[in-house]
Formats: sequence, structure tokens, C-alpha cells
Amino acid sequence: MEMTLSPLRQALQEGDTLKLRKLLEETHPQDLLAVWDDLEGEHRYVVLTLLPKDRAAEVFANLPAEEQAEYLKTLPPWRVRELLEELSLDDLADALQAVEEEDPDLARRLKEALDPETRAEVEELTQYEEDEAGGLMTPEYVAVREGMTVEEVIRFLRRAAPDAETIYYIYVVDEAGRLKGVLSLRDLIVADPKTKVAEIMNPKVVFARTDTDQEEVARLMADYDFTVLPVVDEDGVLVGIVTVDDVLDVLEEEATEDIHRMAAVDVPDLVYSQ
Ligand code: ATP
Ligand code: MG
Repeated sequence: MEMTLSPLRQALQEGDTLKLRKLLEETHPQDLLAVWDDLEGEHRYVVLTLLPKDRAAEVFANLPAEEQAEYLKTLPPWRVRELLEELSLDDLADALQAVEEEDPDLARRLKEALDPETRAEVEELTQYEEDEAGGLMTPEYVAVREGMTVEEVIRFLRRAAPDAETIYYIYVVDEAGRLKGVLSLRDLIVADPKTKVAEIMNPKVVFARTDTDQEEVARLMADYDFTVLPVVDEDGVLVGIVTVDDVLDVLEEEATEDIHRMAAVDVPDLVYSQ
């Protein structure tokens, strides 16, 4: 990894914008995040400005809240706009909450610049507890009705895919939006095009509620081996999905907390036993 990134460091030193753009187009966001803390502040800023917007958003989404707030204050307005557009709604809501704490005025202005639909969805998401399924989920799921045929669903997917967090699972809802079933993209592709969704869906859906604790969400996903879990409200209405990437972040945080807690407990013991 060092080998692939040293040309990047060199281009950053030289301030060679053309070369930087080209290198950044070929660099995976994760590789940038791995060296992020070693980059000079000024260079991070350059990277976030020159990265293609989708990758900039990917890097940005994984930065600590205070750093996100800082960039939303300092990056060029066009880049801030692109970031806000590219972020998935759960990450967007988290970033805006981070700004809210540091600079409520800026948070208000950023929210006002969102299109009304996005703004409403973000407002909705920020109402949930951060450590519960509601605070982890995004409303960018794909849902269909059980009376639709496989070919109708595939046609619908073509339109819905660009804005969906994932299209590998398609959720089936009734007229009130209540979660009734699930099918995978594979189920869909292998079925006869005239088949009704009702015939191929799995009606025994494993789900979380908006107030399900994040550890429980992680456990459900691990036990059932799901990469995505649907989230319903108190009426059983599908309101979002939690994806495994967000759950992995949770597990990492909690492991760190546990280690700190253990350290805090163990140290006095050691001191006393001497
Ligand atoms: P397989 O693993 O059998 O090859 P696949 O690759 O098509 O299937 P998977 O992602 O493994 O798809 O999902 C298998 C099945 O799990 C899907 O058919 C789907 O109905 C079911 N499934 C997905 N999410 C849920 C859920 N939340 N609750 C219950 N079942 C689910
Ligand atoms: Mg599978």
C-alpha cells in the first residue's frame, strides 16, 4: 500500500494537480483512509477537493465527526454541495448532526440548501437515537408490492437502482407500507418473468425495530448472516435498512469502549495488589 501511495505523496509535495487528479482516480477510498492521519492537514484538504465526488464522499463519510464539521466549514461551496448530494442519507444525517453541535448556524444553512425531499428525510432520521437501529438506518431501500410480476420489479429496479443503498434485497410491503416479505436479486433473476412476487418472496422476514439496540442489530446480522436488515416502526411499516458496513463501525466502536473500560477497571486492581 505504501508503494502505491508514495507517488501520491510525491504529487502532493509537488502540488502537481494534474498528476494528483489522475492518481486519486485510481486510489481506493479505504487506502486513503488508512494513511489519512499521516497526511498533512493541508494535503488532506487538497485530496478532498480533487477526488472524484463519489470517492470524496466515501472518504468523508468515514472521518470523525469533528473533522467532518471542519471540512463542511472550509471546503469550497461546490465541493460541499457535491458531498452532501453524494452521501447516503444516514451518513448525511450524521454529518449534519456533527456540524449542528459545532456551528448550528452553518448546519441550518446546509440543511436549507438541500432539496426539500432530502431535507425532510434527514430531519426524520435525526429524530432517532444514535445507538439504535433508527439511528443507523437509511431510507434508501427498494420496496415493491406482492402483486407485481418479476418483470415489473426488474423494470422498476432499473429506475430505482441509482438511488438505492443496495438492490440485492427487495422488500415487499402492503398498501400501508407494512413489511410482508423479502426476496434477493438472485431470486428475482432466476424466476420466470411472469411470476408474481407473492409466489417467490420469503414471508418470514427477520427485521429490527427503530428502537432495537445497535448491538442487537449486529447480533441479528451475524446470526442470520445477512448483510442488510430491514427496520420497521411500531406499526410494522418499513422505514429503513441497516447495512453491514454501519454495523461493523458499531462493533469497532464498542470493542474500543470495552477495552477502555477494562483498562479503567484493571489499573486500580494492579495498583492495590502491589
Ligand atoms: P443463497 O445464499 O441461497 O445462494 P442468494 O445469494 O440469492 O441466496 P442471500 O443473500 O444469500 O441470497 O439471501 C438468501 C435469502 O435470504 C434470500 O432469498 C432472501 O429471501 C433471504 N433474506 C434476505 N434478507 C432477509 C431477511 N431480512 N429476513 C429473512 N430472509 C431474508
Ligand atoms: Mg448467498
